Amino acid sequence: MYDVVIIGAGITGAMLCRKLSGYQLRIAVIEKENDTAEGATMANSAVIHTGYDPEDGTLKAELNVKGAQQYEAICRDLHCLYKTVGAYIAACGAEEEAQLDVLAARADARGIPYRRLDRAQALGQEPNLSDGVTAVLDFYTTAVVYPWEVANACLECACENGAELFLNAPCQAIQRDGDCYVIETPAGSFRTRYVVNAAGVHADAIHAMVAEPSWHVTPRRGEYYVLDKDTQPIRHIIFPVPSKEKGKGVLAIPTVYGNTLIGPNSDFVDDPDDNGTSEDGLNYVRANISKTLKNIPLNRSIRNFAGVRPTTTCPDFIVEEVAGAPHFIDAVSIESPGLASAPAVADKIIEILSASLELIPDASAVMTRKAPVVPAELSQAERNELIRSNPAYGKIICRCEQISEGEIVDCIRRTCGARTVKGVKKRVRPGMGRCQGGFCEPRVVEILARELGISPLEVVYDGQDSRILERENRV
Ligand SMILES: Cc1cc2nc3c(=O)[nH]c(=O)nc-3n(C[C@H](O)[C@H](O)[C@H](O)COP(=O)(O)OP(=O)(O)OC[C@H]3O[C@@H](n4cnc5c(N)ncnc54)[C@H](O)[C@@H]3O)c2cc1C
Repeated sequence: MYDVVIIGAGITGAMLCRKLSGYQLRIAVIEKENDTAEGATMANSAVIHTGYDPEDGTLKAELNVKGAQQYEAICRDLHCLYKTVGAYIAACGAEEEAQLDVLAARADARGIPYRRLDRAQALGQEPNLSDGVTAVLDFYTTAVVYPWEVANACLECACENGAELFLNAPCQAIQRDGDCYVIETPAGSFRTRYVVNAAGVHADAIHAMVAEPSWHVTPRRGEYYVLDKDTQPIRHIIFPVPSKEKGKGVLAIPTVYGNTLIGPNSDFVDDPDDNGTSEDGLNYVRANISKTLKNIPLNRSIRNFAGVRPTTTCPDFIVEEVAGAPHFIDAVSIESPGLASAPAVADKIIEILSASLELIPDASAVMTRKAPVVPAELSQAERNELIRSNPAYGKIICRCEQISEGEIVDCIRRTCGARTVKGVKKRVRPGMGRCQGGFCEPRVVEILARELGISPLEVVYDGQDSRILERENRV
């Protein structure tokens, strides 16, 4: 019997789970995929928006501002990367400059710091701004994170506090049984007093198991280029002026690890799981980035990827108890800025829960996690000492990103550790570099097999059906 079952291990479910793990509660997170953070949380722009963009009076505006304010401290506690790079909103001409005034007024009302730069000032910082850019609003406290690192770290912390994570556990049916809900999954049944629906693009199907939704998911895909680290054409995040029709538009983002992302487009797709890239989508990105930037070396792209926004027919976030389904709480329609808002979405859910659930703080809960050892951040002397005590930290497996065997082993052995090649890639980055795993992937397969005590033939890339090796060859 659980107090709370959270459906979905994206940033919404993970952030909530960590916060709830500070109370005396029995909590489970059930996730349909083979790892955490596999939905929208895996593929997005990674921007901690400060909150100037959402319309006045929306839940998005409220939770974005409150969520962004918490991020730096959360990342510090969880030893996650948080890099303040600043965001330039680049206006082209008088009409768009008038829009900057609207954003500035919103920022003033919400206490968000910014400064206005003329073209010459902005060019001094960003020489690749396009010739059409006439003025810029600089939201200099805007940051970037590594979204799946944050989600996974939240779950690691929560599970260390006693929460339970069940992977490969898609919710298939929910029945009301007296004061409880019973959730059916192939991994077993979960009896719980409260349910939180944080299922992203599948949230409408989950909601429909207890009540008829008045909204439905309208998934919108966004596609990206990832540029090689040695290009670095920008220092700040560069946005066009947002519009009702195009949303935030095509941006350029310096990532926490020094790559540059260019994207996304915004195309409705029929299949909510359709996260493939398309020629049309990438051409759109290519054409539209030139509005704000020039000299972008798209020929130095090392990867394309796409994510699907859990947009719905409701233009705002929906965080509420479902009418007719007591103790069943929706955290749905969490499109952008859902990453930035996640800490405050969690607070809002906890506020709803606290109306009928006694929340007693757990004095033994620890809201941090063990810091990962990152040899690249150590001095030469510290590194030598580390390698002396554990030679695996001296064995480089990923040459592009300089990742050692010690880091890979640690990410597998940790609570909520990696079980797949992609899980290792998401946690410590082998395969994220220029060769995209060409050299290191076979080594990662070997390490996973050894650490998990399975045959290399059983190691999967990502989902349970994604085995990499077919059979043994004679050597
Ligand atoms: C292209 C793009 C760019 C974005 N850029 C930004 C940005 O820069 N900044 C920002 O703040 N936000 C951004 N967002 C929005 C942000 O990524 C999302 O709001 C956020 O990731 C939503 O998190 P979530 O946990 O609600 O959903 P998800 O991350 O989608 O997680 C839902 C989870 O539920 C699981 N699930 C689904 N069905 C079931 C089931 N039946 N049983 C069990 N589990 C199930 C899924 O597998 C998934 O893991 C962007 C989104 C996209 C797609």
